[in-house]
Amino acid sequence: LEHRLRQVERLDSLGKLGGGVAHDFNNLLMVILGHAELALESAPDDSAVRDDLERIQRAAERGASLTRQLLIFSRLEPSRPEILDLNAVVEDTGQLLRRTIGEDVELIAELEPGLNTVRMDRSKLEQILLNVLLNARAAMPEGGRVTIRTAGVEAAGVPPIVRLSLTDTGFGMSPEVAERAFEPFFTTKRRGQGTGLGLSTVYGAVKEAGGEIGIESEPGEGTTVTIDLPATREPAPAAVDSGPARPHRRD
Ligand code: ADP
Repeated sequence: LEHRLRQVERLDSLGKLGGGVAHDFNNLLMVILGHAELALESAPDDSAVRDDLERIQRAAERGASLTRQLLIFSRLEPSRPEILDLNAVVEDTGQLLRRTIGEDVELIAELEPGLNTVRMDRSKLEQILLNVLLNARAAMPEGGRVTIRTAGVEAAGVPPIVRLSLTDTGFGMSPEVAERAFEPFFTTKRRGQGTGLGLSTVYGAVKEAGGEIGIESEPGEGTTVTIDLPATREPAPAAVDSGPARPHRRD
């Protein structure tokens, strides 16, 4: 437990540090990008210098996309929490998720009705789903299956939670990788393929919403990412055309 706490503190301070650095860094990248673009205007076609400038441009663009993710991770992006029906958000993003996962991967949703309202930023919830799904896809180069599950968990004496889990049938993680997976910039992907910020961004969003996240993984079998979010009893505002919202109160 102590180890986990230390890691959580380290992630938090990395996030704060990262946010400040990312801001300054982004400004520098914009200067590099701007001047590369200017220089490209006068660079002759098919010249070595044009080639070099285009490389600079691509690297700076990649850097800018990295710092954007770092800013999100460090929570400098303002959050607009709202009451959300988790099942509805999964269904609403279904098409995007399906497109993300590609044709070789089967996408199954097992969304339990009942307690499934949470209070958090919608775009951050969508980002959680997307990032975890992108990892699942990357772990299944030959195709496979992803199952998204939601369920309300209620027990006497503890606050109710809504559990969201994503299970893939991919190549899984060794215990060493699973241990480090939430660290910013930790990646096992080839250079240029991964930023190592996917899961740390997810981690930041889950923590911000007052939730917990865990990974269970079996090398060669697959991975389950489980996210527990505090449930709220407030009903989500009814979606357009879907009739009155059903309150989830059971007493
Ligand atoms: P990135 O995807 O850019 O590498 P992440 O923070 O999202 O960064 O993930 C960190 C690492 O955790 C990945 O490089 C990979 O080794 C491992 N990982 C994450 N999700 C999965 C998964 N579903 N299956 C196998 N490995 C995973």
